[in-house]
Amino acid sequence: MNFTTQFHRYVAALREEQAPVLPVAVSLVSRPSRIHGQAKLVEDRRGRPIGFRVQVYRKVPDWGRRGHRKATEQEQVDALMHEWAHCLAWNNSHMTLSDHDDLFGVAYARCYQTIIAD
Ligand SMILES: [Zn+2]
Repeated sequence: MNFTTQFHRYVAALREEQAPVLPVAVSLVSRPSRIHGQAKLVEDRRGRPIGFRVQVYRKVPDWGRRGHRKATEQEQVDALMHEWAHCLAWNNSHMTLSDHDDLFGVAYARCYQTIIAD
């Protein structure tokens, strides 16, 4: 199985076992980025939350060389778990998607369990 197929299997497993309160759209992004991944809240025209968008980047900063390098497969899976955990930890009273608090930590542990069991 190639990595992209495996990656999407992980996404399917997370979707099934660790479903956040809103649907999550995940994409692997080829263009270079200064970050490994991000999660964003998607809102409708009235500003109501309707889902999440998770992006995992395949070209990340190469700090030693000041350019970009390919993200390793493990880094991409780590980014997926991390960003999915943000979506899982989110609720309407927990508006920011960027907190790394205890709620996030528990969500991350759940994602980790799903990924290592797959
Ligand atoms: Zn984070």
